[in-house]
Amino acid sequence: MFWRKKNKQSFDAAPAETPPRETKETPAPIAKAHKDMSLDLRRKTGEPVQRFAVGIAGGGNVVSEIDHFMDGLMRRNPHEPEFHQAVFEFVETVMPYYLDHRKYTDARILERMTEPDRIVSFRIVWEDDNGVPHANKGFRVQFNSSMGPYKGGLRFDPSVNVSILKFLGFEQTYKNALTRLPMGGGKGGSNFNPKGRSDREIMRFCHAMMSELFRHIGESTDVPAGDIGVGAREIGYLFGKYKQLSNHFTGGVLTGKGLSFGGSEIRKEATGYGVVVFAEDMLKHHGKTMSGKTVAVSGSGNVAIYAVQRAMRMGAKVVTVSDSRGFAHLPNGFTDESFAILQDIKENRRESLAVFAQEAKGVTYHAGKSPWSVPAQVGLPCATQNEVDETMARVMAKNGMECLAEGANMPLTAQAIHVLKDAGVIFGPAKAANAGGVGCSGLEQAQNAQRLLWTRDQVEQELEKIMRSIHEQCVEYAPVKNGVTDYQAGANIASFARVADAMIGYGYL
Ligand code: NAP
Repeated sequence: MFWRKKNKQSFDAAPAETPPRETKETPAPIAKAHKDMSLDLRRKTGEPVQRFAVGIAGGGNVVSEIDHFMDGLMRRNPHEPEFHQAVFEFVETVMPYYLDHRKYTDARILERMTEPDRIVSFRIVWEDDNGVPHANKGFRVQFNSSMGPYKGGLRFDPSVNVSILKFLGFEQTYKNALTRLPMGGGKGGSNFNPKGRSDREIMRFCHAMMSELFRHIGESTDVPAGDIGVGAREIGYLFGKYKQLSNHFTGGVLTGKGLSFGGSEIRKEATGYGVVVFAEDMLKHHGKTMSGKTVAVSGSGNVAIYAVQRAMRMGAKVVTVSDSRGFAHLPNGFTDESFAILQDIKENRRESLAVFAQEAKGVTYHAGKSPWSVPAQVGLPCATQNEVDETMARVMAKNGMECLAEGANMPLTAQAIHVLKDAGVIFGPAKAANAGGVGCSGLEQAQNAQRLLWTRDQVEQELEKIMRSIHEQCVEYAPVKNGVTDYQAGANIASFARVADAMIGYGYL
């Protein structure tokens, strides 16, 4: 269990809703209805009956409120641990602000925000190179469109399930809100495993997926992009099929497209570059700089590669990259030569880091290990969710880590975040630190709508503006503890307020 053990319970007798709370100003008949429902729910589950006071004036206990909220969420969404974890990470920091604002508690906005608008699930049948048919699961989670059309990547990985896509769609909603661009939150994908598949098989799979997905997306409805296992090649196949089926060249329906058919400069670099720009801003805000720092990176995919490149450009020494099979250690740091080899191996040849260690000078390969035991002052986890646990976080803190920015989505467990924050490490949460990718996707949509292609410099400048504005928003809302800004709380509260205000503006929907 990722948070308080006392919440362990069976979900069998799950009631349909979080028990509502009684507030000081609640009209008497409604308060009575709430009280009865609450008593009834508690009796059903055999739990002790508790009352929760809402609002600062009522002396509400924040921990009890979080427990109460999570209790309801887990009952409504059983067997979805990643989704529970993502919501908990959010609610843990947002709850005091939420309780302090009657407009949010009266609208029960947290409960509404944690229910996706809809989830589409479908079958994808495709044929392999031997003529054998395969059936995979396809999903699109349209989480929240308060800020604009749903926007978020597609992931192809055998681990893909509803829990993972709900966590990603939830995170995406608040990340997109921080960019201040008109984008709602969504996520999708398939449990298809692209590893070891030929180019033709990937093409047939993408075409088969789009033959159903096309009816659920659109430039003003839902705009997918890439994520793990989905890069420029896959987006090309998906876009081609969409164009054929709809008989429309609608660039704004997918982002991450090739430059020759409506893609944007810098899109493939944007997430990795943005993470490093954000880390540099956090360091500067605390009187430090990236230049001269030792940096550990995990992953060697789209986000990791360009985080390495940008950190090198800022004068940092990047000493690790990893993949799902192990990590590569470069004690003297990446050089332009070793970086070019990595890029070729991962982007063109699609081989493992063991091959990188054979071909590049001064590299050792460590099979089956993660890179976090290598001492570094800056950590950039850019691989996948929950790759850093509490034990690894303790090692990082002991080895002198000063700053960690999440390139991947939810790469740290809840306990790992606490360990680092307690040790005074400056922590940049994913929804702020890795927003550069979706920010650039928003710029791609803007270019498609204008039917223009901006220059590399123009896009890079706009991207930096987005990252700097996210940093400012975090600082504006963040508490400061022992001289360290709490970016996690800042990002969560700033984005919560933006989405909540929009939802309230629409009435009860
Ligand atoms: P990617 O290009 O597919 O690369 C993923 C990398 O992570 C690969 O090196 C992969 O190794 C490694 N990896 C995957 N599963 C792993 C595991 N269980 N243990 C250790 N390593 C693992 O994906 P990406 O686009 O870089 O995305 C990486 C993360 O960033 C994800 O959390 C994604 O949601 C997030 N993100 C991506 C973007 C974007 O624009 N692409 C934007 C925001 C956030 P193998 O090659 O061996 O599998």
